[in-house]
Amino acid sequence: MNHNQLNSSLNNILVVDDIADNLRVLSASLTEKGYQVRCAKNGTMALITAKKNPPQLILLDIKMPDMDGYQVCAKLKEDELTRDIPIIFLSAFDDVLDKVKAFSVGGVDYITKPFQIEEVVVRIQHQLILQAAQAEIVELNTQLEQKVQQRTAQLEAVIDQLNLEIAQHQQTQKQLSHQALHDALTGLPNRTLFMEYLTKAIQRHQRNQDYLFAVLFIDLDRFKIINDSWGHAVGDQLLMAISRLLRECCRDLDTVARLSGDEFTILLEDLHNFQDATAIAERLLAKFMLPIHLQERKVFSAASIGIVFGSTTYHNGIELLRDADIAMYRAKTLGKGRYAIFDREMYAQTIHLSQLETDLRLALERQEFILYYQPIVSLETLSLAGFEALVRWQHPQMGLISPEKFMAIAEDTGLIIPLGEWVLQEACQQLYAWQSTFPSAASLHISVNLSSKQIKQFDFVDKLGQILTATGLNGASLRLELTETMLMDQGEKTIELLTQIKQQKIQLSIDDFGTGYSSLSYLHHFPINTLKIDRSFVNLIKEEESNCEIVKTIVTLAHSLGMKAIAEGVETSHQITHLTNLGCSAAQGYFFAKPLNRQLVESLIVNNPQW
Ligand code: C2E
Ligand code: CA
Ligand code: CA
Repeated sequence: MNHNQLNSSLNNILVVDDIADNLRVLSASLTEKGYQVRCAKNGTMALITAKKNPPQLILLDIKMPDMDGYQVCAKLKEDELTRDIPIIFLSAFDDVLDKVKAFSVGGVDYITKPFQIEEVVVRIQHQLILQAAQAEIVELNTQLEQKVQQRTAQLEAVIDQLNLEIAQHQQTQKQLSHQALHDALTGLPNRTLFMEYLTKAIQRHQRNQDYLFAVLFIDLDRFKIINDSWGHAVGDQLLMAISRLLRECCRDLDTVARLSGDEFTILLEDLHNFQDATAIAERLLAKFMLPIHLQERKVFSAASIGIVFGSTTYHNGIELLRDADIAMYRAKTLGKGRYAIFDREMYAQTIHLSQLETDLRLALERQEFILYYQPIVSLETLSLAGFEALVRWQHPQMGLISPEKFMAIAEDTGLIIPLGEWVLQEACQQLYAWQSTFPSAASLHISVNLSSKQIKQFDFVDKLGQILTATGLNGASLRLELTETMLMDQGEKTIELLTQIKQQKIQLSIDDFGTGYSSLSYLHHFPINTLKIDRSFVNLIKEEESNCEIVKTIVTLAHSLGMKAIAEGVETSHQITHLTNLGCSAAQGYFFAKPLNRQLVESLIVNNPQW
């Protein structure tokens, strides 16, 4: 701000003095310098003038008759309108005390009379510049304050936005971790979260054995069938209904989790005793007896439950869950829709089974399998017609193991495929060798049992052909035994497969006939040569009531389909007579011979017995 500006804008000065000459001189000189000057001869006038139109500056004489300058100054300072007007005192005394008083009442400067007008102007200018600077500072401060307020507001907005984003982020984070620990379909805790709770329960029990807990392992007995036949949407509905049902049967403090597919687990905590756990299992099973209402249908889905009680022998959740799983399987094998409590013996059996599985794999490599051959006798000639090849496991420690002990595991593990192939190869090779060595063996056939896994292999027919070629055996000397379930399993596809097999002149036989659920109306579609009447029906042929309808019916059925009937498990001569009378063409059983090893078969062939 320059002086011109100052003069034009801030040029309003009030001069107060009781001496007219002083007033005149000051007024004239200042007017000349460009100031607008008003005058007052005493304090009262000064106050009135100042209040009416506040000047930029007041020159105030100290010594006045009615009210001195100090008093006027004090009054001006009292009023808000005039408080900020700079006051320069005019005084005749150059007294230190007066100066102090002048400043203490609010004066900004002090001029002693007699004065030089130049000094007065300089002092006035100083004050006006100062005042302007102060005004500017005030203005800047206000601006600054406004800006600060603005920035604060902006910052607050940004902070709000940030907080919002943080909250959203936390929400997403929460959702993600919820998703990572819960099953999407049922919303139940998943395996990870369940294991976490289980670990805590185990640790708590280690510290305090009064804290009792148990785990229920629940598997739906019919879920797969429902899912496959009604579709996944219904399967999903069922799983959700089940998860609700499980929750209803438990207390709030229990954890119901979905481990996978149709497997659920429940962690029961703070039990009073272990009966609490079995009571809950019973309650669950009772609920599972009732139909479950889904959107469009009612379904029944029984469950098998394995129970494990928490104990200090468990060091981690994996061990405990493994045992719960074992117990569940036990419940399942005991006949579904029930619960089983885990015990040590179960574990030993499982270990034994998995040991068996390992051994079984090695057995193939080590060629520990051998074939036994059970004679099949023609009921027309009562002489040897052929053999059924039956596999045995020559275990290095346990001795000869029957197929009943290892077939199920071989099926489950898929080992049946290489094993079955070996049996086929071995049986064909053996019969060919006998046919070549013994003329009386030329017309004998060999029956080989097949498993469903084997015939489901896409290259099964090729393999059969290769085996016949490699061993040199005529296809007509080979008879394959299939079960009813194997036939019904694949419908049309099976007919095609069997037709291809038949093209190699191989004969086909249905084993254990009568025990399966084959639809009899379907039977004539299959190119089958013989029905092998199951042992259990042959058993029914007893001396006393020799009228056994089922065997008769099967024989009649076979004949009407253009097939032959043969019997297995024949143990008495009475059974032979009866079967012969019914028109059964051949028989096999302990009555003739047990399954025999190679040497025994060879001496039998040589002897060529007539029974
Ligand atoms: P299967 O095909 O029904 O075989 C007949 C079973 O009945 C044989 O048991 C045989 O020893 C037994 N048996 C024979 N005559 C009598 C009798 O008069 N009375 C009684 N009580 N039993 C008799 P094994 O050898 O223990 O075979 C059991 C089952 O194992 C077989 O039943 C068959 O299903 C399966 N199997 C055996 N070898 C093989 C094979 O190489 N491959 C396949 N896939 N399964 C096989
Ligand atoms: Ca058989
Ligand atoms: Ca059989």
